[in-house]
Amino acid sequence: LAKENGKNNFQFYSSTLAIKSSRKMELEMALRKAIQHNELVLYYQPQVNLHTNKIIGFEALLRWIHPTYGFISPEEFIPLAEETNLIFSIGEWVFTQACKQKKKWDALGTPPITMSVNISAKQFQCSELAQIFEKIITDLQLNPNTVELEITESIMQNIDRSIKILNELKKIGFLISIDDFGKGYSSLSYLKHLPIDTLKIDKSFVDDINDPVHKGSLVKAIIDMGQNMNFSVIAEGIEKLDQVHFLVKNNCKMGQGYFYSKPLPKEEVEKLLLRMNDTNQ
Ligand code: C2E
Ligand code: MG
Ligand code: MG
Ligand code: MG
Repeated sequence: LAKENGKNNFQFYSSTLAIKSSRKMELEMALRKAIQHNELVLYYQPQVNLHTNKIIGFEALLRWIHPTYGFISPEEFIPLAEETNLIFSIGEWVFTQACKQKKKWDALGTPPITMSVNISAKQFQCSELAQIFEKIITDLQLNPNTVELEITESIMQNIDRSIKILNELKKIGFLISIDDFGKGYSSLSYLKHLPIDTLKIDKSFVDDINDPVHKGSLVKAIIDMGQNMNFSVIAEGIEKLDQVHFLVKNNCKMGQGYFYSKPLPKEEVEKLLLRMNDTNQ
């Protein structure tokens, strides 16, 4: 009986695995065609000055809308893109689209805004990354110091190579931010060795502002450290007004989150920018 059970267990286990990997294989095949089939689209989340509520920039966030599977979260397909090396072409597409969009919005005559683009650690395995990005902004005649590249602490896994490429990107003029700051496990000493402009405080620490025990103590610590090291600091995932109050009181000047706006399609952003122009005149 025991043996039979064991066998059944094994069959159950292996068929679950088979289902999982076939979903993954289907997604992989679909992802290969996603760019050509125009299924990828960028949404843009406003980043605001917490004192004035004015928009200071946008973060480009990738969306995949498949005709039969529907909406697939970047949390699911970005790791798949990394595993399959599709991230190289997808990453280049994202960067190009975001820069083109920025160029169009600049032409509306809006106040200066930055465009933030997420870059996967895997993209740093391409030694031509900086040259590729430089060509794209040169072709578009876009000023690199209005484009911010968001990287995560996971690039530390390949520290020498990453520093080399980051220095090249910095030399071109791009702004560099550390996304999900504090969530990774790397040592703080790396901050001294990287050409960083901005720390993006991870949402989990912003959530802690409302925690009766932690009361935002880590948010405070990150803001202080950022100031002492001359980094800009932006809080991610702000959902409540009392979080804004806490951040302002503790000298955090920038933020983004559903409290202000969810990521928006480009048409919505354009309306927002035009309205902003009107109120400024
Ligand atoms: P991220 O770069 O840290 O982006 C923040 C995520 O939090 C986004 O999820 C955003 O929609 C969400 N968010 C923003 N404000 C709030 C809030 O107030 N509450 C809550 N609950 N969520 C909020 P999204 O768009 O699903 O993206 C998830 C992750 O996927 C991103 O995290 C980023 O790591 C990755 N990703 C998205 N687009 C790209 C891309 O173009 N390239 C790469 N390499 N990664 C991307
Ligand atoms: Mg990001
Ligand atoms: Mg983040
Ligand atoms: Mg994240």
